[in-house]
Amino acid sequence: MGGKMKGKCFLCNKTFSKAGMTKHLKACIKESGETKLFHIMIEGLHDPEYWLHIEISADAILGDLDQFLRDIWLECCGHLSKFTINRESYSEEDMNFQLNRVLKPGMEFYHIYDFGSSTELRLRVVSEREGKIGEEGVRILARNELPLITCGCGKNAKWVCTECIYEGEGWLCDECAKEHECGEEMLLPVVNSPRVGVCGYNGGKYGN
Ligand SMILES: [Zn+2]
Ligand SMILES: [Zn+2]
Ligand SMILES: [Zn+2]
Ligand SMILES: [Zn+2]
Repeated sequence: MGGKMKGKCFLCNKTFSKAGMTKHLKACIKESGETKLFHIMIEGLHDPEYWLHIEISADAILGDLDQFLRDIWLECCGHLSKFTINRESYSEEDMNFQLNRVLKPGMEFYHIYDFGSSTELRLRVVSEREGKIGEEGVRILARNELPLITCGCGKNAKWVCTECIYEGEGWLCDECAKEHECGEEMLLPVVNSPRVGVCGYNGGKYGN
């Protein structure tokens, strides 16, 4: 699987490398306010080419963060999920903890969605600050660009076969998708998520 690691800053619309984005955001975030916010960087544990920077209210609960992750990257059919923070597990019934109580700057933690065909994420609290946030309590600061994955014929892949993906294959352009031996019902759209091609995942609320 190829793909650049570049992404877009949602505040200024400029493009930066994954490595340069954290530094850029420090300079790009300017407005201040009275709400304590956490800046969190999120990436696919096994697919680090998918990454996000978000700001979330420190008063938000783990369940809010879980819902955001489902909305942007994960939700296919209501699988269970959990966070692991400091070796403690927080599954559905424990997700009413406020982030303030369980997170600190510099801390790394993990999220898993679906205990069968899992998608695992690594999260890191980059910093905290006093700022403003909309009613949703979370905003996207930056996101990777859709990785360019090519079909065997050289065109951009639009589809992925849920069978062949396990061998690292099955990335298909529109034409090759029609002739794919596993059948069109096995195909899912190529979307900008570490859950691409898994279970019934066909994209999140926030698009690509
Ligand atoms: Zn910017
Ligand atoms: Zn599913
Ligand atoms: Zn296939
Ligand atoms: Zn093709």
